[in-house]
Amino acid sequence: MRLLDGKQMAEEKMAELKTQAEALKSRGIVPGLAVVLAGNDPASQVYVRNKEKACQALGIRSETHRLPETVSQAEAEALVARLNADPAVDGILVQLPLPEGLDESKLLQLIEPKKDVDGFHPVNVGALASGQQGMIPCTPKGIMHMLKAAGVPLAGKEAVVIGRSNIVGKPTALLLLRENCTVTICHSKTENLREHTRRADILVAAVGKPRFVTADMVKPGAAVIDVGINRTEAELVGDVDFENVAQVAGYLSPVPGGVGKMTVCMLMENTLLAARERSR
Ligand code: NAD
Repeated sequence: MRLLDGKQMAEEKMAELKTQAEALKSRGIVPGLAVVLAGNDPASQVYVRNKEKACQALGIRSETHRLPETVSQAEAEALVARLNADPAVDGILVQLPLPEGLDESKLLQLIEPKKDVDGFHPVNVGALASGQQGMIPCTPKGIMHMLKAAGVPLAGKEAVVIGRSNIVGKPTALLLLRENCTVTICHSKTENLREHTRRADILVAAVGKPRFVTADMVKPGAAVIDVGINRTEAELVGDVDFENVAQVAGYLSPVPGGVGKMTVCMLMENTLLAARERSR
């Protein structure tokens, strides 16, 4: 089994992005990312800190706008409108989940599509679905980067994605389709899940259930990507039963140190793409 080492892949990618950031800065363009963090979700605090650190590592601007749990929809919308209009901001990211009472889809739709570095705006979702250029969501983009960097064959292969969320499952399926995989999306209502997963040459688990994918669900030699981040009392575990699946899979991404590392990296790439676009 070959380990899909997200930490190492992310380090390599960040080195490449640093060179790109420096080239932009030498032309007087300082890329900038604005993060909107509403409420006190502990996991979100960690994710936002990691995003700030990644901006620092690249030497690009980052600003975090912390809003109280009780922020009104109108206040949150006013902030997004301000960031849309700010020429120093290339990328806007609204950290999810939002506190109850805020309308997530309405807020995401307000982000200027060119600044939508998370790729969740309907314009970018539509671009992805119809094969046009747009911002690609970071986690799915990171998954594809891992598969390609490891040289996993994609064209003509069976790919099965477990999970149909707008953030991970659906866009990942579309990206796999773009690479000419034969794609199946499984979800909570799928019957005979194991029959689907055992056909997969590429299996992506984005379920949110600890060690959900067991060795008997995996085709020998398959590339298994574990997207899950599950905090159990003792540790952080993925959606894949790592120890046992490692005996069967051809490639396997660990948790932690897998897809999560790539996600932040792809956010940085999207921010640089937006900055380059601005400079045209
Ligand atoms: P979600 O809860 O929105 O979606 C989970 C999906 O799993 C749903 O589509 C559901 O239909 C499916 N599902 C649930 N039970 C199932 C079952 N028994 N059989 C088959 N399918 C089932 O979650 P999400 O936002 O897509 O995230 C999934 C996981 O990935 C979570 O653990 C999340 O924390 C993690 N995540 C990681 C990153 C990263 O950067 N590594 C980014 C986003 C999400």
